[in-house]
Amino acid sequence: MVVNFGAGPAKLPREVLLEVQKELVEYGTNGMSVMEMSHRGSSYMKIHNDTLELARELLKVPDNYKILLMQGGGTGLFAAVAMNLIGRTGTADYLVTGSWSTKAAKEAAKYGKVNQVVPKPVKHICVPNPKEWKLDPKASYVYYCDNETIEGVEFNFVPQTNDVPLVVDMSSNIMSKPVDVKKFGVIFACAQKNIGPSGITLVIVREDLIGHHLPITPAILEFSMNAKENSIYNTPPTFIIYVMGRVFAWIKRQGGVEKMHQVALKKSNMIYEVIAKSNDFYYCPVEREVRSRMNVPFRIGGAGGNDALEKEFLKGAEALGMQQLKGHRLVGGIRASLYNAVTVEETEALRKFMLEFHTKNS
Ligand SMILES: *Cc1c(COP(=O)(O)O)cnc(C)c1O
Repeated sequence: MVVNFGAGPAKLPREVLLEVQKELVEYGTNGMSVMEMSHRGSSYMKIHNDTLELARELLKVPDNYKILLMQGGGTGLFAAVAMNLIGRTGTADYLVTGSWSTKAAKEAAKYGKVNQVVPKPVKHICVPNPKEWKLDPKASYVYYCDNETIEGVEFNFVPQTNDVPLVVDMSSNIMSKPVDVKKFGVIFACAQKNIGPSGITLVIVREDLIGHHLPITPAILEFSMNAKENSIYNTPPTFIIYVMGRVFAWIKRQGGVEKMHQVALKKSNMIYEVIAKSNDFYYCPVEREVRSRMNVPFRIGGAGGNDALEKEFLKGAEALGMQQLKGHRLVGGIRASLYNAVTVEETEALRKFMLEFHTKNS
């Protein structure tokens, strides 16, 4: 077995994989695989509804919110959010803190006017001070990305919006901490970082925000159609939803999202501490208070990074079975993703290797 620090698709709990393996060919007494069942049959319907119920329970989703399972990944929701909501006033506020919120703002601009809440591009990697935000009181919604997977910036607060609905992309940190759902209009997250394989997006929408889509919205992207049809307007990725349900059950067995949060803090602090005590041998460019618990990016050999050292680090890590530590092509360097399924022991292996690598190269 390797240790998988990939950013997504990412590690799944081994327990879940073994459970899925056991049930792969014949599910329960059905005599066939989940993959082969009708998406409208009673066996699949139970899997589907159990998955939705577990999501509601784990995130304590209030009754006036619908939980939808949509296709097209996180990126599909960039369009769906705008198509479903921007028509209410024609404009939307976007808080851009990294690559994913940049993409979301660009997509939304196809369907309405996008206001950049922080007009000047930010030089360093941070969450700009709310005092500098220019929120438009007429915006249909305020959009942000809670955890920028590529840059490693994670909000440590929920933005205040004066009753303008708040939309959040939690693709890379959903179910890694408790969330006060009633503060949000829409929460969405693609599955392949923290909650399952790629192919489905979890969407939590406040009921009063359903039914305002632009007339051109494809039915498959309408919140209202998905809500009405219990997310089975067309054939959903049944197998992926089944696996996601098993991941939810695993999270529940571990002690829920509170426990996930404690472990995430512990794991990320283990790595950030090595960085902090390395005298800039390891360098994390992210402002300290908003460093991500999920994705830890760093350079080796100073702020600019030393190519040769970074290559050697990756080679040494691979030799020990630690994989997918290469930083995103946009930012370079190293990135360790420490999602829910990555264990403390695995994080310890990385911590130890970082210390040894530093000693060897100083
Ligand atoms: C991965 C990711 C996405 C994009 O997800 P796709 O399913 O590949 O479209 C969007 N937002 C965030 C924060 C992500 O980490």
